[in-house]
Formats: sequence, C-alpha cells, structure tokens
Amino acid sequence: MTIYNFSAGPAVLPKEVLQQAQAELLDWHGSGMSVMEMSHRGKEYMSIHAQAIADLRELMNVPANYKVLFVQGGGHLQFSMVPLNLLRGKASADYVNTGEWSKKAIDEAKRFGGVNVVANNADRNCTYIPAFDTWRRDPNAAYLHYVSNETIGGVEFNWIPEVGDVPLVADMSSNILSRPVDVSKYGLIYAGAQKNIGPAGLALVIVRDDLLGRAAANTPTMLDYKIHADGDSMYNTPPTYGIYMSGLVFQWLKKNGGIAAMERVNIKKAELLYAAIDASDGFYSCPVAKSDRSRMNVPFTLKDTKLDGEFLKQADARGLLQLKGHRSVGGMRASIYNAMPLAGVQALVDFMNEFAQERR
Ligand SMILES: *Cc1c(COP(=O)(O)O)cnc(C)c1O
Repeated sequence: MTIYNFSAGPAVLPKEVLQQAQAELLDWHGSGMSVMEMSHRGKEYMSIHAQAIADLRELMNVPANYKVLFVQGGGHLQFSMVPLNLLRGKASADYVNTGEWSKKAIDEAKRFGGVNVVANNADRNCTYIPAFDTWRRDPNAAYLHYVSNETIGGVEFNWIPEVGDVPLVADMSSNILSRPVDVSKYGLIYAGAQKNIGPAGLALVIVRDDLLGRAAANTPTMLDYKIHADGDSMYNTPPTYGIYMSGLVFQWLKKNGGIAAMERVNIKKAELLYAAIDASDGFYSCPVAKSDRSRMNVPFTLKDTKLDGEFLKQADARGLLQLKGHRSVGGMRASIYNAMPLAGVQALVDFMNEFAQERR
C-alpha cells in the first residue's frame, strides 16, 4: 500500500531524497564517512554546506546583498531573534495578527519592545487575511512582521504587503519554496525547516545586509544574525545532517523544474482538494475565505462531527495518515507541501468522496 503522509510538520519529504540519503548514509561520495560523522570544518562537509546555500540562492533568486543563514532553534527562536536584531533602538514594530503563529510571534516580541498590531482577523475566527487598506501601520515601525501562511488556520497571503522603507519580515515556515517570492521586497525571511525544507531543528534565514550588526546590547552571541553571517552559519557546530538533508531537497527542487514548476503542481493539488470539499453539499466544509485559502494546509470539518473518528480510522487504513486537525481547530487538516505528490491528494479526494457517498 502506498502511504501518503499529510502531517503539518515534521512533514513528508520527497521519497527520492530519503532514498538518496539512505544510499549515502554510511559512505558519502566515497569519503568512507557518514555526513553525521564529518568534521564541519572538513572539505567534505564544507562542500555540502556551500552547495546547499548556493542552491537555495539559485532557487529563490536571492539578491547578492542578502545573506542566507542556517540557524538552530527552529521557527520559534526567530520570534525572539527578529526583535532582538531588528528593533535597532526603535520603540516598536508592526505585527499583523492572522492566527496562532502570528500570536506566538507577537507575544514573544513584546518581551523586547513595543508591538503595534496593525490588523487582526479574530473577528471572523482567523479565517481571512485583513485587507491591506485597513491596516493601521506606524510609519516609524522598526519593521513589519507577518506570517505568510498560517499553518494551523490555513490562511495564506497571495500578495506581498507594500510597506515602503519599513523592513518587511515574513515567517514563511509553511509555504517557503512553494511559490516564487520576490526576496528583494523583504528585509528578512525566516522558515523553520520541517515543513517545506528538511528535517526539524533548524531555521533558514534570508536577511538583507544593512540589517545586520545592530542587535540590542546584551544579545546572546548565538542570537546575533551578524555572528552567523560572519561565520557563514558555522560560528559553532551547525546541525550538519539537517543542512545536508535540506541541500538534497534543494537539489530535488532544481531537478524538478524549480519553484515555478512546484507552484503549478501546488495549485493543482489545492484546487483538487478544495473542489472536493466545496462540491460535497456541506458534508465537508472549509471555513477559510476562498480568496485566502492556503495551498499548503487545508483545514476542513465534517458536518456530522460524530463521524470524525470513523473518517480518521478509515483514512488510516487506506494509508492516508495524520489527517487529524490541530487541537485548537478540530476537524481535519491535510497538509500538502511540495513533497506531497498530486497522486496523494487524488487518493485523499477519492477516499473523501467515497466516505461521503456511503453516508448520504
Ligand atoms: C511550524 C511553524 C513554526 C514553528 O516552528 P518550530 O520549528 O516548531 O519552532 C513557526 N511558524 C510557522 C508559520 C510554523 O508553521
């Protein structure tokens, strides 16, 4: 039976990548060593590290005046590193609140300075992106932070906020590499790895040069982007195996046509799933405003919630795994990141249609 894993994160990785990692596990490229056993200063690992960064730069078309960093601590540590490094003596930063991940970033930022919440979608249960012309922005904000895809609520920005000279900061943990992004519009982009990049435990940071070197006094060394930039993400021992795996994913993306090709498949996958939900006569429903529906995380509920357990049990038996919704939302959530093939979404839709048919 083919298994399709719809976990929100850590999430499915491309099968080819896992097979390559398996083939190279004991002996990387004739070195006689596993990547896990290599000195991070040795020529073998250094080449893996440099290649991963070069491939990411190519995939995302990262301009020369930006650094690409690998930092430990996942997405969460970025909630602290962003204000520590980017407040630069200013009183406050602007934050858009579009759901659970926005709230976490906001709560953490409040430890370091003022937070001005420019817009909030709680009035409609976090199911839409507030229109830009309703945002109450502070022209003196140190930066503006938003979450480009809310992994739990399933709302996604399909546009980039135009905030002039205020550095734009985005948490792209759950939609990075899923669609082309104009990096030059941002001061800083970050993403925890375990959704669309690689194994858990590291974050990718893309930061514009002029924002480096202005961290708050007493910023711990390891939380200063400048330290990581100057050390080429090797100030200390980096999470070498995670970076190696991320590098394999970047090569897989390049081999498969890059991000534009990924986006085309992602659009197809999302359309297929939302169409099945919308055509179910209310048997299934998705609460998110149509224009703001995520291509990566699709939350949906069953009209008769008493059937939830049976739905999950049967899905499991068919090899459709980890569809249970987040505890704060309930129902189901299908995460359909880059590594989820169209066939996986088709299998889910076939199952959903059958399940509904039998119970109408
Ligand atoms: C998963 C996720 C995070 C947190 O990542 P950790 O690595 O668990 O700290 C942050 N932001 C978003 C949008 C996420 O989806």
